[in-house]
Amino acid sequence: MTQVATPTIPFFNYPSVFRQDEENLLAVITDICRRGAYILQKELKQFEQNLAAYQGAKYAVGVANATDGLQIALEAAGIGRGDEVILSTHTFIATASAVHHVGATPVPVDIGWDGLMDPASFEAAITPRTKAVMPTQLNGRTCDMGPILEICKRRNVILMEDAAQGLGSKFDGKPAGTFGLAACISFYPAKVLGCFGDGGAVLTDSQEMYEKLLLLRDHGRGSDGKVWCWGVNTRLDNLQAAILDYKLKSYDDVVARRRAIAALYQSRLGELAAVQLPPAPDRDPRHFDIYQNYEIQADRRDELKAFLSQNGVGTIIQWGGFAVHEFEKLGFTQKLPKAEKFMRRALLLPINMAITDDEVHYVCNTIEDFYRNG
Ligand SMILES: *Cc1c(COP(=O)(O)O)cnc(C)c1O
Repeated sequence: MTQVATPTIPFFNYPSVFRQDEENLLAVITDICRRGAYILQKELKQFEQNLAAYQGAKYAVGVANATDGLQIALEAAGIGRGDEVILSTHTFIATASAVHHVGATPVPVDIGWDGLMDPASFEAAITPRTKAVMPTQLNGRTCDMGPILEICKRRNVILMEDAAQGLGSKFDGKPAGTFGLAACISFYPAKVLGCFGDGGAVLTDSQEMYEKLLLLRDHGRGSDGKVWCWGVNTRLDNLQAAILDYKLKSYDDVVARRRAIAALYQSRLGELAAVQLPPAPDRDPRHFDIYQNYEIQADRRDELKAFLSQNGVGTIIQWGGFAVHEFEKLGFTQKLPKAEKFMRRALLLPINMAITDDEVHYVCNTIEDFYRNG
């Protein structure tokens, strides 16, 4: 019998993705450095305009990271002490910490079958103090925004989106990040549009919000140099903006590739009873998903993760395996059974621009072997 070497399929492959386009990326960086154009320069403005146009928003404001973006968006909307903000418990802690740091109280609620905010749980959590709801457009999928928008209107709740994972995803043809007063997008390297460090943006259609956000991200300083309010320093570096503007040009191709990988996983694992897959790309015409992550739910999840690792396949358990409300040191007391069950079974399979179809088949073969022989 011939001995076949175990392949290595890392969860992320930053170096390989960089090398795929090294020459052009270095040209972008060299151009910026030769001009010394580092802070609040024309590449930032240009990227903000292109990003807003891409996502169908009126305005985009580049910030140092999406967490800061959420925080200054909440602040610009006047949300603070005494207010409650409802969010899905299946999200990054950043969604809740942005709420905490403006002095408001984050209220996590349970999820639906797809892992995203359950509209009925949102409505049930509304109190007289509820000021806003901030659903997470999770894993590159936009929530069923119909019922969420209807509840916001009927109960007078401001909608803000954590669209950190949602760039390019759509519900009913409308892009994530354009449903409410404001939304954040993240350019953390592992995000579908990733930069070479931290980066983020806030989207809004409101000119008033836009003007406040420009002040807040730069020490409260206006274009006249005067300080108009207390602000922070959370600008998107011009170098990162230039890289992002370059990468945005091929973003649709990246999304198409990720959707193809998701379709391949679906065709190989769709019939396997031990795992539940995320919604397939063609499952529901109202949803256009960009597959920021491919999050499955698996029987014997921890054993499967170890088996995949032994066989050279990198996987990740998102958020360390806990929903936001499970971090009891932060003072949460909710019990949210659907999310808890989901988190115990959740596993992210590799999906990135370096993985080949053959490698996806290998991942699927390994998962089949695990359940067949285990
Ligand atoms: C990545 C992420 C964030 C935070 O983005 P940063 O740019 O790292 O601050 C917030 N929310 C969600 C859902 C995320 O995935």
